[in-house]
Amino acid sequence: MLPGKRLPSLPYGKNEVYGTGKSLSLRFEIMTKFDERDTMFSRLGLIKGTKKYREYYQAHPGLQKEDDRVRESTRATIAKIFSIEPDCMKKRSKWMAFILKIINIFLDITGKKMPMNPDRMLKMGAADKGDDITYLAMAAPAARMANMINKEARSKAISKYKTDNEPAEMSAVIKSLALSYGADIAGIASLNSHHHYSHRGDIFGMGGGYGKQISLSYKYAVVIAAALNKEMVNNAPGAEVQIASMLGYARSTAVTAQLVLYIKSLGYDAQTDNFIEYYSPIAPLAVDAGIGQMGRCNMVVNKQYGNRLKIGAVLTNLPLREDGPVDFGLVEFCLACGKCARNCPAKAISNGVPEMINGILQWPHNETRCMEMWMKNGTGICMASCPFSQGVDPDLLKEMKGNKDIIKKIILADSLDSI
Ligand code: SF4
Ligand code: SF4
Repeated sequence: MLPGKRLPSLPYGKNEVYGTGKSLSLRFEIMTKFDERDTMFSRLGLIKGTKKYREYYQAHPGLQKEDDRVRESTRATIAKIFSIEPDCMKKRSKWMAFILKIINIFLDITGKKMPMNPDRMLKMGAADKGDDITYLAMAAPAARMANMINKEARSKAISKYKTDNEPAEMSAVIKSLALSYGADIAGIASLNSHHHYSHRGDIFGMGGGYGKQISLSYKYAVVIAAALNKEMVNNAPGAEVQIASMLGYARSTAVTAQLVLYIKSLGYDAQTDNFIEYYSPIAPLAVDAGIGQMGRCNMVVNKQYGNRLKIGAVLTNLPLREDGPVDFGLVEFCLACGKCARNCPAKAISNGVPEMINGILQWPHNETRCMEMWMKNGTGICMASCPFSQGVDPDLLKEMKGNKDIIKKIILADSLDSI
């Protein structure tokens, strides 16, 4: 950059900057990598009788019985994703496995992975009624647009002309640009090897490259979040939440794709890590970028938008300055609150105390029960329940950390609002 020239300030540049640069005392540095094959999405895609199925449950015998039960009870929804009749799912499983095997061989040879298909995802949770499908299709154009720009971002070449900017200034520009592109929150984390998955899973059995080792060498993650529409979330578990979620995924995907296009034009490598293809379990990355803290609900809770967030990231080598995690007092608040656990129809949320799980202080979560409920009856009651999703008085929020009286006041105000 030329001496004496400053990067321009952008319209949203004065928005709140998340991240304090301080580490939480309750974090450990050593974490193990998460394997995408262990995610519920990947496990639900395993088909009985296939090699993948045998190998996975030989390595994880304790999960087989419960996973089989959930696959059976959510068969109708899984069948919708594969676009076949639910009753045929069982009979056709060998045929399906054969087709998927051919696709996987092709993808392995070409080194490609079939990314998430947003149109298929939109069919999830829909009842077999024309009205519901019509309703859910509302988010399809946004998802399609996001998919297109994401493809564009992947294929764009990195500019030969490398810019040279000061990392702190560049970070401010990138975060404010993210907000200008449509994000509600942006933060930056330094990337460590534990942030990305160790091996590829296979979302609902739709992709290729299952079991491939993931090795990335990016230095930073720009993490952004799109807040879901509050009124739509408050209709949980109705179809509106599904639409709000898909719109949130589409927005976070489009923002990260635009940032990748921008960073590549500056002469640095960058790739999206978003709904179309996640390379990391996104919550720990979001915590490290200061987007929020892990709440009892097992989601990232932001002080302004609660847990009604869809999160995406850009992985890059552009020199940046990390924000680091934040601590606005959520752990103490969740200990006193527990509203999401009381309201969860699947009893998937712990009503106990947090534990150190993989280096992060968090509440255990029964993802199997949650997934089953989500696929059969819809999702999002925990998003609507969280007082931070509804908005907490900013003056109280400022004083909340470590202050039991203020915490009680916020909980009381929320319970009066909910009447
Ligand atoms: S999405 Fe529904 S089932 Fe899952 S944890 Fe939240 S409230 Fe419970
Ligand atoms: S509802 Fe209460 S306990 Fe649950 S995440 Fe939100 S603040 Fe924490």
